[in-house]
Amino acid sequence: MILRNPPMTGGVNKECAKVEGSVRFPMIITDVEAIHLRLPEVEEIADGTQDVLVVRIHTDGGLVGIGEVTSQSYVCKAIFEAPRSAERRHGLAYLLRGQDPLEVEELWHRMYYHTNRYGRRGAAIHAISGADIALWDLKGKILGKPVCELLGGAYRKSIRAYASYLFGSSPRETAELARCAVDLGLSAVKFGWGPFGKDPQADLAQVEAVREGVGKACDLMVDAGHAWDVATALDRARLLEPLKITWLEEPLSQDDLKGYAELCARSPVPIAAGEGEVTSWGFEELIERGLHVIQPDVAFCGGLTVCQEVSRLSREAGRRCVPHCFSTGINLAASLQWMAACPDGNLVEYCLRPSPLMRHLVRDLPPLVDGCVIVPEGPGLGIELDEAVLERFRVSYS
Ligand code: MG
Repeated sequence: MILRNPPMTGGVNKECAKVEGSVRFPMIITDVEAIHLRLPEVEEIADGTQDVLVVRIHTDGGLVGIGEVTSQSYVCKAIFEAPRSAERRHGLAYLLRGQDPLEVEELWHRMYYHTNRYGRRGAAIHAISGADIALWDLKGKILGKPVCELLGGAYRKSIRAYASYLFGSSPRETAELARCAVDLGLSAVKFGWGPFGKDPQADLAQVEAVREGVGKACDLMVDAGHAWDVATALDRARLLEPLKITWLEEPLSQDDLKGYAELCARSPVPIAAGEGEVTSWGFEELIERGLHVIQPDVAFCGGLTVCQEVSRLSREAGRRCVPHCFSTGINLAASLQWMAACPDGNLVEYCLRPSPLMRHLVRDLPPLVDGCVIVPEGPGLGIELDEAVLERFRVSYS
């Protein structure tokens, strides 16, 4: 991605306005909402379905784009709503109002550059992700096309899914969970966290239990949850290799890039990482360090604009790109549109958590059918929000 420094001037030239069919061009962004949704009880566990920030971008043509931020919602809401300040420290809503919603990539650079005194990485990029998803949704609605077509083509109508589970407290409990995954029709599963990572023989017993539960044909991934240093990760990779694991995820700290370079060169199983990474420049570094599987989260890493670029970089380097996706149906729909647009986009994470923000915020959540998820076909992301669910879980700031 080439960095551009867009000026603060710009926006829409109303002199050029024209009408095609019932749609008036150019449209102008009139308002940006950052809506915080939160379950009444939020547990301190790695579950992104408990608290999210929904983004809605409105236009003078009446069309509305929908996006989502999976991060610290209170902080990201403030990043949207912060008023104009000195140079390059503005809020996102201020930067988007009055702009042409069709210029999605230009607007990404506008948001990135004009927040760079406090942004560049971290929460500002997470917030930009939500705005970017909403802008792609809006562009699809304006042009009457699904996002996957705007991103380069619709290569497939459904994407193979994998579900993520926490390891059970015992191998027996883990084997039961694994059998549940098979009963749902999944042909790929991931287990991680929980008691995993502390003892080699206990870890081996846990992964053996998964393999026994899912059978030989199922793809099996293991998420180590940043548990080890390089030497330990290498030992575990060798120990688990006979169980035919598809990838070993985040065995090291997200910041141990030197360690990943060493591990990736020597590991007998593919190494995956990237759910904590942002911007295409960050992913470029992961690819250079040798990561085999790259895992951007579209509602965190910078949005579809970044994901599209990361897929291209991964493909060119001969690596695999698989979305991290564990929040609401908005994230799922965006991930499906992105994968459908990739020639090699053949796997997506499918969250099975019971949270109403995951299961009901999006009407007609893309279903799991024979181990695959159907890509929504309507314009934009192809989804609609349930306003009653939105209002029920909306956090009041008044
Ligand atoms: Mg993970």
